[in-house]
Amino acid sequence: MSAQKETLGFQTEVKQLLKLMIHSLYSNKEIFLRELISNASDAADKLRFEGMAKPELFENDPELKIGIFFDKDARTVTIADNGIGMSRDEVVANIGTIAKSGTKAFFDQLSGDAKKDANLIGQFGVGFYSAFIVADKVTLSSRRAGESVATRWESHGEGEYTLEQVEKAERGTEIVLHLKEGEDELLNDWRLKAIVRKYSDHISIPIEMKKGAGYGEDGEVSNSDELEVVNSASALWTRSKNDITEEQYQEFYKHVAHDFTDPLAWSHARVEGRQEYTELLYIPSRAPFDMYDRERKQGVKLYVRRVFIMEDTEKLMPHYLRFVRGVIDSNDLPLNVSREILQESKDIDAIRAGCVKKVLGLLEDLSANQPEKYAAFWKEFGQVLKEGVGEDHANKERIAKLLRFTSTASEDGAEPSVSLADYIGRMKEGQDKIYYITADTLAAAKNSPHLEVFKKKGVEVLLLTDRVDEWVAGSMFEFEGKQLQSVAKGALDLGALEDEADKEAQKQVEEASKPVVEKVQKALGDKVKEVRATARLVDSPACLVAGEHEMSAHLERMLKAAGQKVEGSKPTLEINPEHVLVKKLAAESDEARAGDLAAVLYDQALLAEGGKLEDPASFVKRINKLMLELSA
Ligand code: ADP
Ligand code: MG
Repeated sequence: MSAQKETLGFQTEVKQLLKLMIHSLYSNKEIFLRELISNASDAADKLRFEGMAKPELFENDPELKIGIFFDKDARTVTIADNGIGMSRDEVVANIGTIAKSGTKAFFDQLSGDAKKDANLIGQFGVGFYSAFIVADKVTLSSRRAGESVATRWESHGEGEYTLEQVEKAERGTEIVLHLKEGEDELLNDWRLKAIVRKYSDHISIPIEMKKGAGYGEDGEVSNSDELEVVNSASALWTRSKNDITEEQYQEFYKHVAHDFTDPLAWSHARVEGRQEYTELLYIPSRAPFDMYDRERKQGVKLYVRRVFIMEDTEKLMPHYLRFVRGVIDSNDLPLNVSREILQESKDIDAIRAGCVKKVLGLLEDLSANQPEKYAAFWKEFGQVLKEGVGEDHANKERIAKLLRFTSTASEDGAEPSVSLADYIGRMKEGQDKIYYITADTLAAAKNSPHLEVFKKKGVEVLLLTDRVDEWVAGSMFEFEGKQLQSVAKGALDLGALEDEADKEAQKQVEEASKPVVEKVQKALGDKVKEVRATARLVDSPACLVAGEHEMSAHLERMLKAAGQKVEGSKPTLEINPEHVLVKKLAAESDEARAGDLAAVLYDQALLAEGGKLEDPASFVKRINKLMLELSA
């Protein structure tokens, strides 16, 4: 059996990544071991799963394990596993390239500032390549379970790597790290043991340690009494809560989530009843780089009686909780559960419903008892959680309580922190609705003419400026019996907030402004559905209002921007009869000039709510004409 050694080039991103990583993660270099052990453990999980249908893959060696060896003379540290292994093609695909979706977009974000990039790199998860933090040459040999030939991959972590076909008695992967100058402290069993215990104690299979170059030719270590198991070697989630330290929970998270940062919070419970399962679910502290990527691969891991079955991005957690990571281990599902079975399974539905409740409970607990943590959560994942109001009818009220908004009562520049309960608690006497406005930006929302009457009356209004907010408001209708009302839709109805005097004044204004309303109506023709006088405005002369049951102008613009065809409906123009411009218009006898003024009022109202003028050039001409008249 002879095969030539081939030299191949790394994908550009890999080269970039290697360089960056070595610089930015050096201060925390021992994590290389955690990453390689994490991969070895994943490989064992995969073999256990594939081996259920094809027991021959175990090659009469069913004891899954990880070995760590060090050789002082050769200055090498070796990490070996007897997991699934990799074929030649898999080595090329997994080790020479980064196949994650969104890779390019991720690299475009890198700034070259080592500190900032280190953070981003953690979020991306660099796994295997962390070997190059301590090694200047890495030799990986791997034989896929059930296959006869093995592949050796070797690289100095620069531009290229070599591949050759080799023989390997034991299935699985062996990685030899040729240490850089100055890394000799790693050639010490105490040091290595300490690293393993710190980062990898939670790994469910034994991690053995020994001096030497690796498992021997026959797959056995010659002098086996020197072998020592250094971890607890039981699946972390099966242990009792009292026996797990905070650090162990955190390190386990890094392993399951392929994340470098500590999680924000977690829920660990054994659930008994119709379905028996254990869940260990984490809220990360940072959004993954591909949270909005439909191709994203990460989710919650499903185990059945400790056997890894699959990582699922759809069935185990609803879309609006797609940031949750961790493990669900069922006692009742059949081991041969497939993706197809999962889709139909009522048992899975029950488990999922239970896990969703756990996650919501965890978030409720954070919001009540650890407001700072909850604010951090909201910043990263609030936008995603909001989707749940429309997506999860069963839990709508619970999710609504978890939402946080900015409102007219928020301080400038503050993070969204107003809950609907806060809002209701501050409602004015007689107020029976939750008022909100949607806009593209906070400035547009805050300064909208629609808010004027609310400011005057001291009524709080929620300022909704996230893309998902229209959907949230549209799906919610009401909260605890209080209707959600857009301030830019329908005729102004302040209900009991208006006193008799207000109502009487409004009536008189309507009567008195009939002529000017007709004038404007005539000038604008079918541009508008209706013109009416309003008490909603204080400082502005006019504003546009959508019909009570029609799409808001803001939503219409968003849909159009997204390339959707929408049948826009005509707005109603409301004018402020108290405003000097409107008074001027009322008094104007020149029909052409009145027409110009009316057109300008309409265009201004459209601009003020962030709309786009149909004919901007005519608007400019009219304004210039009016300015000239002023100065004349
Ligand atoms: P991640 O673990 O997040 O996928 P890594 O860089 O750590 O990223 O590993 C890349 C891929 O290489 C893994 O997904 C796996 O397919 C493969 N791989 C790495 N180490 C091993 C191993 N010991 N056995 C089998 N496959 C491995
Ligand atoms: Mg990994």
